[in-house]
Amino acid sequence: MKKNDIIPMTVIDMTGQGSGICKVDGMAVFVPMTAVGDVIEARILKVKKSYAFAKIERIISASDNRIESDCSCYAKCGGCVYRHIPYNEELKIKRKRVYDALTRIGGIKDFAIHDIIGCKEPNGYRNKTQLPIGRETNGEVVMGFYGSHSHRIIPCEKCLLQPDEFNEIAAVCREWIEDNNISTYNEQTHMGLLRHLYMRKGFDSGEVMVCLVINGDAVPNIESLVSSLNRRFENIASIILNINKEKTNVIQGQTCKTIYGSDFITDTLCGLRFNISPLSFYQINHDQTQRLYAKAKEYAMLTGDEFIIDLYCGAGTIGLSMADECKRVLGVEIIPQAIENARENAQQNNIKNAEFICGDASDAAEKLAKKGETPDVVVIDPPRKGCSGDVISAIVKMSPKRVVYVSCEPETLARDLAMFNERGYGTAEVTPVDMFPRTASVETVARLEKKR
Ligand code: SAH
Repeated sequence: MKKNDIIPMTVIDMTGQGSGICKVDGMAVFVPMTAVGDVIEARILKVKKSYAFAKIERIISASDNRIESDCSCYAKCGGCVYRHIPYNEELKIKRKRVYDALTRIGGIKDFAIHDIIGCKEPNGYRNKTQLPIGRETNGEVVMGFYGSHSHRIIPCEKCLLQPDEFNEIAAVCREWIEDNNISTYNEQTHMGLLRHLYMRKGFDSGEVMVCLVINGDAVPNIESLVSSLNRRFENIASIILNINKEKTNVIQGQTCKTIYGSDFITDTLCGLRFNISPLSFYQINHDQTQRLYAKAKEYAMLTGDEFIIDLYCGAGTIGLSMADECKRVLGVEIIPQAIENARENAQQNNIKNAEFICGDASDAAEKLAKKGETPDVVVIDPPRKGCSGDVISAIVKMSPKRVVYVSCEPETLARDLAMFNERGYGTAEVTPVDMFPRTASVETVARLEKKR
């Protein structure tokens, strides 16, 4: 097998990332945008020792599970990977990804895996989008999404995962950038002003935040953009400039300047009102987040007497949603603006039994353990890379009855559950939750119990 060979093959399984898996002469060949049962001709792109990557050239006979994609950017932008498969099939693939990761990578045994909690509406669910801004070679302004594994901007005027309002606001901004001839950022030269258009919407409140990420301190003639956005859209609650002059892939910088309205938007989740600043994390899918948090609360098995530590707490949302059924909540988070939000959020919901510390999860957990804190339940919700061995050791030192692990990456969850298992915490049950329909991502909530 060599590069550019065109080989017939049949898709027999899927990877967690949404690629079809074929077998050719004992080699696994990964082919994106295929479905189990597809018989295809694929062009080999790259050959490794025991596997290869290929690209679909022609469908010889289509799987029964193949549907027509309804998006013109599909397969170009790096977002969706399952638009050619019915949603119920996608859910099965995602549940299997969680099961395979836990059993194969984590070696986890004797646990229950429940049905995946699917999303009622697999489109229009994203409450946040970040569109890179650039220019085509002909000078036309382009906004959209990076192609998969690349930094080329794929123009996308109507992303089906986000509310139409985001598409419409982006169109107004694009026109304004062209009319005002504002420079756009070039990653290679580190020149140009406008880097990203970042938007957020409170799905319950309807409030919208528009944030321009800029490589500079100000934007010429910005008042005219503010007034045209306000003329067109009545629910814009906040317009912000985020300053990012670094040569980096990280989208946002540390400084925000509010140029219209409030410094944050508000939204309601699980019956509580939350302030969310541009730099604070907020779950992307409003309805599924409520289901995820309800499951996390169920797994915490609260009786009213518990002391809960909520590590990686963001704007305090998980811990605050549990505060009415426990004695005390202590949240830990590294982003100062998120901690500020968490404190405001406790106050505005009249929650008196919650406190928050700004700091690194492993330092804070270590300090809390040294101080002799004895939480009954520790909730952790780390970023994709999972938590470090240090965090796990510090949690184990505090000897909680149980740990509720909320994870957005099954593979790192599996690794961490194995570490917990070695240190005396067994995985009792897990529920996958589909927070990100049509994309490869899947969320999981796990209940870990201290072994007797
Ligand atoms: N539980 C929250 C946030 C989850 S996202 C919610 O449901 O909304 C993960 C959070 O971990 C982010 O807010 C991120 O800023 C924070 N984080 C990342 N690294 C961290 C670290 N080393 N220590 C503490 N918090 C961290």
